[in-house]
Amino acid sequence: MKKLSIGIFSFTCDEGCSMQILEVFNNKFKEWENLIEIKHFRLISPRKDIEKLDVAFVEGAISTKRDLEGLKKVRETSKKVIAIGSCAINGFPSNQRNFFDKKVKQKIKPFLKKFNHLENVEPIKKFISVDGEINGCPISEDDFIKVLEDCLIEFGVKDA
Ligand code: SF4
Repeated sequence: MKKLSIGIFSFTCDEGCSMQILEVFNNKFKEWENLIEIKHFRLISPRKDIEKLDVAFVEGAISTKRDLEGLKKVRETSKKVIAIGSCAINGFPSNQRNFFDKKVKQKIKPFLKKFNHLENVEPIKKFISVDGEINGCPISEDDFIKVLEDCLIEFGVKDA
């Protein structure tokens, strides 16, 4: 029986949206056990190479070259990418350094360079195409459930 393969990926953020998803999985475990295969989710298992996925849920903004490489890899290997949470969708609140005044920006510039940070912290759609969004800070459990249920139907795992 086909399962929906999914990954949850976190970039620059506090992982508050992932915590919401973890709660959903705790509550829906029995119902989704035979329908969903979770291939990546840092909160429940160590980081692995990114495999082919039906749906990638991406939280967090992009602030480093490492983030950017990871994000591009997620896009290449996923049929559908859904941005979750305000950080991924519009950068806020993880992008606060973008709004520092000129003097402070000059001061932190060498550190940004040293640690391979990008000049600005950006939402994910600045770099890749995105197929859907779940807004909020954090996202609501109900919104996530609705989107995941829609994906189960779209990928033929569950009847409408
Ligand atoms: S959107 Fe809010 S809750 Fe979600 S990761 Fe960003 S700061 Fe955390």
